[in-house]
Amino acid sequence: MRHPMFSEEHELFRDAVRKFVEKELAPHADEWEEAEGFPDSVFTRMGELGYLGLRFPEKYGGQGCDFLFSVVLAEELGRCGMGSIGMAVAVQSEMATPPVYKFGTEEQKMKYLLPANRGQKIACLGITEPNAGSDVAALQTTARREGDHWVINGRKIFITNGVRADFITLVARTGEKKGYKGFSLFLVDKDTPGFSVTRKLGKLGMRSSDTAELLFEDCRVPADALLGEEGKGFYHIMWELQGERIMGAANAVSRAQMVYELALRYAQERVQFGKPLAHFQVTRHRLADMTTEIEAARHLIYYCAWQFQQGEYPVKEISMAKLFSAQMAARVADAALQIHGGYGYMMEYPVQRYWRDIRLSRIGAGTDEIMKEIIANEILGRVKE
Ligand SMILES: Cc1cc2nc3c(=O)[nH]c(=O)nc-3n(C[C@H](O)[C@H](O)[C@H](O)COP(=O)(O)OP(=O)(O)OC[C@H]3O[C@@H](n4cnc5c(N)ncnc54)[C@H](O)[C@@H]3O)c2cc1C
Repeated sequence: MRHPMFSEEHELFRDAVRKFVEKELAPHADEWEEAEGFPDSVFTRMGELGYLGLRFPEKYGGQGCDFLFSVVLAEELGRCGMGSIGMAVAVQSEMATPPVYKFGTEEQKMKYLLPANRGQKIACLGITEPNAGSDVAALQTTARREGDHWVINGRKIFITNGVRADFITLVARTGEKKGYKGFSLFLVDKDTPGFSVTRKLGKLGMRSSDTAELLFEDCRVPADALLGEEGKGFYHIMWELQGERIMGAANAVSRAQMVYELALRYAQERVQFGKPLAHFQVTRHRLADMTTEIEAARHLIYYCAWQFQQGEYPVKEISMAKLFSAQMAARVADAALQIHGGYGYMMEYPVQRYWRDIRLSRIGAGTDEIMKEIIANEILGRVKE
């Protein structure tokens, strides 16, 4: 039965995305994971279908949809058998391009947002650095003004879509040497002299997504590469993280549901001691716990999504939803692997990929520990250093 939060339009959209996922993504999961990359044409195709930039106006290649459509998309992409595509699309449409829409000039929107929404340009978001992960205030990449240009120097790491991206929404320091003030955003084209992709990083999971280390060495960009207000980069980027966290959580719950269903099926088929595993009470209770936790996480996310949709900004609840979903999905994937026994540990069974991919949910877009810090700050106030 349809959840009351979703309209008939949302459900029609869900059906269409589900068909696309079943027909055009899921059959390639093994091949793309093995190759450690899915083709760029996935972006092109999703752009053609109107699945990128759902929330942006049509003028910029978007669909003018509400936030719940993005939640539906995240849930359905979670069904494709690999976590990478949901992550790549979230970076493209929910992380790298929203600041272009909100703070960009008309020229920047036409040059970057429009082609990104049409799937003609791939975007990445460069925040994390080797010495600045959770501690964003420690970022060291600098942009120095020289006449009509900015000169960028620094290194970024763990950048999703970074190898193939056509442009980077980059956070660099233009002011004070420490703290959150003095950051600015820049739009950097991949062919700018002084910019290079130094490494494609090998990963435990999310193998078909590309994750890069990027280098800026006296990389000169024109003055109009500045995105938004100088010195406001941190605030320009942080507002959008909340929507992205809801979508990431929705995607994790959807993958937890998929791996639970694998375990459910396996428990009914696998016979030991003369009966299916599903007849042992320990397995029955494990499956009951798994499905209960999935439903609890789903409803927490829906509540946050609904509030967000009303224009509210429930940071505490979103952090709770992100934390709970990530930990829950990791527990469910681990329980599913356990139900599969030795077969779960074998590469030929899909459960191992869920187990590996899902682990990232506890790290990316803010770790479990950082989510707890945010929740604690909301209930107790910040501790002054
Ligand atoms: C596959 C992948 C894709 C990614 N994609 C992107 C991307 O596209 N763009 C981008 O900019 N970044 C990206 N990231 C980076 C990601 O956001 C960071 O990895 C994450 O924020 C954690 O930073 P860190 O890895 O440096 O860990 P650290 O910050 O060094 O943390 C290490 C451990 O210490 C804990 N810790 C840190 N500070 C505290 C504290 N104050 N209190 C308690 N515990 C603390 C952390 O929770 C963690 O357990 C990606 C990462 C991965 C792995």
